[in-house]
Amino acid sequence: MENREKYEAFYKRSIEDRDGFWKEQAKLIHWDKPFKTVLEYQKPPFANWFPDGTTNLCYNAVDRHLAERADQTAIIWVSTEVEQEKTITYQELYQQVNEYAALLKDLGVGKGDRVLVYLPMIAEVIPVMLSCVRIGAIHSVVFGGFASTALASRIDDAAPKLIITVDAGIRGGKVVPYKPLLQESLNQISVTRPKVLLINRNLDPNLKMEKGDLDFTTELAKHKDAVVEPEWLPSSHPSYILYTSGTTGKAKGVQRDTGGHAVAMRASMKHIYGVEPGQVMFAGSDVGWVVGHSYIVYAPLLTGATTVVYEGLPIRPDPGVWWSLVEKYKVNCLFTSPTAIRLLKKSGEEWIWKYDLSSLESMFLAGEPLDRETHRWVTSALKHAPVVDNYWQTETGWPILTNFKGMGLMETKFGSPCRPAYGFDVVLIDDLTQQPAEPNTKGSLMIRPPLPPGCLSTVWGDDERFVQTYFSRMREPIYATFDSAVYDDDGYYYIMGRDDDVINVAGHRLGTREIEEALCSHPAVAEAASIGIKDELRGQAISCFVVLTTGAEPPSEADLKNHVASQLGPVARPHFVRVVTALPKTRSGKVLRRAIVAINEGRDPGDLPTIEDASALDKIKEACKN
Ligand code: ATP
Ligand code: MG
Repeated sequence: MENREKYEAFYKRSIEDRDGFWKEQAKLIHWDKPFKTVLEYQKPPFANWFPDGTTNLCYNAVDRHLAERADQTAIIWVSTEVEQEKTITYQELYQQVNEYAALLKDLGVGKGDRVLVYLPMIAEVIPVMLSCVRIGAIHSVVFGGFASTALASRIDDAAPKLIITVDAGIRGGKVVPYKPLLQESLNQISVTRPKVLLINRNLDPNLKMEKGDLDFTTELAKHKDAVVEPEWLPSSHPSYILYTSGTTGKAKGVQRDTGGHAVAMRASMKHIYGVEPGQVMFAGSDVGWVVGHSYIVYAPLLTGATTVVYEGLPIRPDPGVWWSLVEKYKVNCLFTSPTAIRLLKKSGEEWIWKYDLSSLESMFLAGEPLDRETHRWVTSALKHAPVVDNYWQTETGWPILTNFKGMGLMETKFGSPCRPAYGFDVVLIDDLTQQPAEPNTKGSLMIRPPLPPGCLSTVWGDDERFVQTYFSRMREPIYATFDSAVYDDDGYYYIMGRDDDVINVAGHRLGTREIEEALCSHPAVAEAASIGIKDELRGQAISCFVVLTTGAEPPSEADLKNHVASQLGPVARPHFVRVVTALPKTRSGKVLRRAIVAINEGRDPGDLPTIEDASALDKIKEACKN
């Protein structure tokens, strides 16, 4: 059978024989008490997967592998910031999660309690997360480096009993204090003040401990060689809370379950990523994002694979650093974002060719649109390893649209994250008719409920918001991704941009993505953002901002406008194109279009607690003046 046919049969079964399909996938993990019911769906759109089974994520990620792979490396920790590397075997990880779990219990943390993890990419971060789920505590990892208001609102929302933090992180060689920022947040919260446990890295000479703060090393020493049996939890027990990137507004607290999550993660390694037990996965992301949760922590360890935890930038000490790690640690699967690849692309492919990448079997990119030019560049630079674009969200936890390395790849079409993953009943809905869109016409990307295992079970503490936010966009209750897309005659999808980013020029609906894609195909353009501005005559006009490729001859504005018009037709001709040195982005690398729109309209962009570099806003402001 051809890969396409294999995929189609597999996908069809996942939708038409849903229970049979997931019952089979659920065998990939260990259940303490096996489930009888696959899906309980009495209260749509709330899906309760494997409701009467009990399991434990930490047991499945650690204890279960001891019989066969106690001495295998579980975690490779590399920090180019403090110039240290460390490997941790499954046996060592087992000991750590037991000691950490004993410490958590000692601090009064129990089943259902929240633990806020405010840590950079240190070697301790995975054992911290796993020890929480070992005892049924719910972790909420918050990305380091948010403004104190963002952290405070997450503390208020999750109401943790304990916060685990460090004195400082370090980024690009610069020490970033964590503790003072946490202190600032604690002064703003309205919930009971949580206990603070601090891992001292001795990076901040001005570290100030408050009364009641606990030192991790001292506390942990009390639990040497402790054994804490894993808590067998009902499948629906919340494993973690993770906030979305906040690109479009207030971040939502995504709540993930235990059993469905475990099954979805393990199955995705088998069918999508094609990573086998014993292989090495390197997700160049941060544990503060969903890619980190899924593909640095849970999926690789549930599989019995080795995961690389990397603290540092992809271009420091030089743009070859990731490839050197691929060579050194024989990485089989590399996962990162288009932003990171665009950054590497600026430095040239020599950096890739310097290293022996023969171990690499695939590379996956997700998080934002992968423009065709970048996809082409990295595919040709890597030579043998296929590069797969996959589309998903914090909410889903694993790919909605992807190609399938594990099952055998289908044809790659640049610009498309391929086809729906098994379990996702994807449909494009035409906003006007509210009917499924025809091929090659734009629609809102929706998923018919129930959502498959691994997706959010609700918004933390707010069932109403879950239903209101995600299931109320259309007349029928169907899950909205808030992205728009088209699909072609072969069933391949193309993401056009966020729903509300669609620009309407004299009745023509243009996706921001297509315009940016067209700009990026110009040899001098490295990155682009497009937005709609008010236009008396045509309703909206297109305005664009571009970052140029290092060393490129700066093109004229007319040249860039013509370039877009020649690719998308005269209606897509931008009203203006301005060159800037940086685009405003979230910490997770997503372009903050709503901030650009606000500046363009002369408004204050408002509170942007998740912005990466606030000075990028001034650059847009400057560019708008000209
Ligand atoms: P918020 O929901 O808080 O506004 P966010 O949507 O940016 O923030 P994430 O869950 O981190 O939060 O990002 C998911 C979104 O990223 C998707 O809905 C989509 O817009 C974009 N995205 C992810 N992967 C891809 C991809 N492969 N191609 C195009 N867009 C992608
Ligand atoms: Mg979103």
